[in-house]
Amino acid sequence: MTIVVRAGCLWQSQGVIPIGAFIFGLMIGSFLNVCILRIPADQSIVRPSSSCPKCGNAIAPYDNIPVLSWVFLGGKCRNCKTGISAMYPAVELLTALLFLACYLAFGPTVETLKWAVFAALIVVLTVTDIRERILPDKVNFFGLGAGLLFSLFSKSLDGTALWIANRWFDFPPPQIALSFADAALGALAGSGLLWFVAEGYFRIRGREGMGLGDVKMMAAVGAFLGIKRALMTVFAGSLLGSVIGIFLIAISKKDRDYELPFGTFLGAGALLVVFFGSPALHWYESLLAVK
Ligand SMILES: [Zn+2]
Repeated sequence: MTIVVRAGCLWQSQGVIPIGAFIFGLMIGSFLNVCILRIPADQSIVRPSSSCPKCGNAIAPYDNIPVLSWVFLGGKCRNCKTGISAMYPAVELLTALLFLACYLAFGPTVETLKWAVFAALIVVLTVTDIRERILPDKVNFFGLGAGLLFSLFSKSLDGTALWIANRWFDFPPPQIALSFADAALGALAGSGLLWFVAEGYFRIRGREGMGLGDVKMMAAVGAFLGIKRALMTVFAGSLLGSVIGIFLIAISKKDRDYELPFGTFLGAGALLVVFFGSPALHWYESLLAVK
């Protein structure tokens, strides 16, 4: 087996971990499909095991291998031949690629674990929003809790808490307090900004343009990303939503009130920020410094 990695660092063990991350991502992706299907319907994500939604036939373990089973079965149930949505292998593949990207970007660190959990969370929210136009509370609150918890074990990228602390205290508080404060500030700022926009839209148009689900989702996103990156996420999500929204409305001839899954765009924005947020932020800060 040949494993192609960047020239100069080709040793076996280094190629094995990324492949492991990818395969682990496929398996987690398979579980995320269950979450996407069952959480909005308020069903248990643990039991019963998967069955065909049409004929009720239990899906055997060998027909439940991520991506491969769907391909071998031609996207059909083995028993009744009903078509099985391409969403299943797509979610598995997407999760696997995101896990691989997390490992390649952050290496064997707790950061990789943190961003892989975040990516899994975003996959569930993003796909659920496309399918049903909802962002389940359970997922949002799990995300908020996980984001705050991870802040205790990883260094904050944000620096806002340190900036504030330097003005208030002679000695900077311990790292763990700063990191937690950044996560809490990110949750407040992300959800606060969206709540403000949602409330403004409601006041002006007299009806809801954005659900509270988006506000809660940004609390979770902010807890992982901190203030600066949470604001970047809202900016990137709005930009993506506007561009893709205008395009969709133009080609589909749907009326202008066609409801776009804003959570999906926020999710895409958040993932872009995870992988490209730091260089973008440094570039922006260098622009400010030049002035
Ligand atoms: Zn079936």
